[in-house]
Amino acid sequence: MYRIRIDSRRCQGHARCLAFLPETVDFDDEGYAHVSRAKSLRVEMTDALRQAVANCPERAFQVTEE
Ligand code: SF4
Repeated sequence: MYRIRIDSRRCQGHARCLAFLPETVDFDDEGYAHVSRAKSLRVEMTDALRQAVANCPERAFQVTEE
């Protein structure tokens, strides 16, 4: 299982992650991403999750195996 984390210090608000995981990513009023509360628990690895990690230009979208 994996835990998703978005590093707020790195996120620049490109929203590429949103294209792959629209139900997992929310944005604050300033346009920066965070993991939606309902999806912040452990998740299975999926192609969409891999793509979200691979396409974040700031390396802010991260997953750690647990
Ligand atoms: S793609 Fe990366 S930098 Fe852009 S909004 Fe998503 S987490 Fe933030």
